[in-house]
Amino acid sequence: MSTTTTVPIRTATPTPPKREVASTREDFPILKRMIHGSPLVYLDSAATTQKPEAVINVLVDYYHQTNANVHRGLYALAAQATDKYEGARAKVAKFIGAGETEEIVFTRNTTESINLVAQSWGTKNLKSGDEILVSEMEHHSNLVPWFMLAKRTGAVVRHIPILDDGTLDLSKWNERFTNRTRLVALTHVSNVLGTINPVPEIAEMVHKHGALLLVDGAQGVPHMPVSVATLGADFVAFSAHKMLGPTGVGVLWGRRELLEAMDPFLGGGDMIRTVSMTAATWNDLPWKFEAGTPNIADVIGFGAAIDYLESIGMTEVRRHEIELTEYALEKMHSVDELEIHGPADPQLRAGVISFNHSDIHPHDLSTYLDRKGVAIRAGHHCAQPLMERLGQTATARASFYVYNNREDIDTLIDALQSAGRFFGRR
Ligand code: PMP
Repeated sequence: MSTTTTVPIRTATPTPPKREVASTREDFPILKRMIHGSPLVYLDSAATTQKPEAVINVLVDYYHQTNANVHRGLYALAAQATDKYEGARAKVAKFIGAGETEEIVFTRNTTESINLVAQSWGTKNLKSGDEILVSEMEHHSNLVPWFMLAKRTGAVVRHIPILDDGTLDLSKWNERFTNRTRLVALTHVSNVLGTINPVPEIAEMVHKHGALLLVDGAQGVPHMPVSVATLGADFVAFSAHKMLGPTGVGVLWGRRELLEAMDPFLGGGDMIRTVSMTAATWNDLPWKFEAGTPNIADVIGFGAAIDYLESIGMTEVRRHEIELTEYALEKMHSVDELEIHGPADPQLRAGVISFNHSDIHPHDLSTYLDRKGVAIRAGHHCAQPLMERLGQTATARASFYVYNNREDIDTLIDALQSAGRFFGRR
């Protein structure tokens, strides 16, 4: 830092022109593909999103120009790779309004981020008889790590039910808390129903009962403005690949004091301060939780994905999804055979629509739509308890992102009607 008294003259950083959501399609090379002779209509962004040229270019450029291991090298290339890697961490911190960059831990995905908390926080803090609360709409990623933790510690996993409209039964919350409730693990947005849970209100309730709140942000952070301070959670987990970034990168955000008090998740290089033949001490945050060579290129690519989303603006991303969801719900309601799951109000849901056709199994529907170039998902969506609650073994699911438009939905509706005629004839 400069010690002179001269005040530097700040030149305003030029604000890059805003990217219009309507023109984003051009930025995604894969959308030019033909599938079975039809243009690809990609409606499976809840599973993973497509990548803009800007992200792909950053990956290629990194390997062309900067590839070196981070944190250890004393040469220019290693310093540049480290700067870019740590620069991406700063972008993530800013994107979710984290107070400190050190609170951002890179993992492989949401699943690993949740497992990290279950292992490092849970094993240390939970005793036999302690309780973890989850909801009936959780992805297996936010259930199984808690079951495993319960098995190790003797803790108990209890759940909050959902109502028929696909929202949480908040009337059951207070009675589910006991003086043994230590953690609530809840999704921000359901990957099946699209339901947006009122996390800030829930966080208040959780903290009033002296418990911590982990938010599965896999379907929330990519789709709307999210500030960890406003959410009020203690941990938030999400994945780069669901927000235009590469696969193999996840984020765990945690409050500093909690992360500080936790033991490491994995042991090895980079996460240590000192090692002797009998013991080791740990590195500072966040590196304490990043053992071994991290996924350098993909983290840097994730930084480019955040730049891209910010060039649209998350408020605009959300507005676009509400508009598409409203349009899709209206069109889908006109197909008599469809049962649509989740809240009716597009303001209460993200761009994920699960449905069942009265005459066609979701797998058959998905296979038929694929022949028309339309990619939707069918199955239990890693949410088997929720499937049971819905009385289904599987649903079909269409999900939207910045590159989708009304024409995609029109093509979906045409294909659904065509499927009805095709299977109806048999
Ligand atoms: N939670 C939710 C709500 C999800 O939708 C997903 C991905 N389908 C996950 C967790 C797991 O994400 P990942 O596979 O990237 O770990």
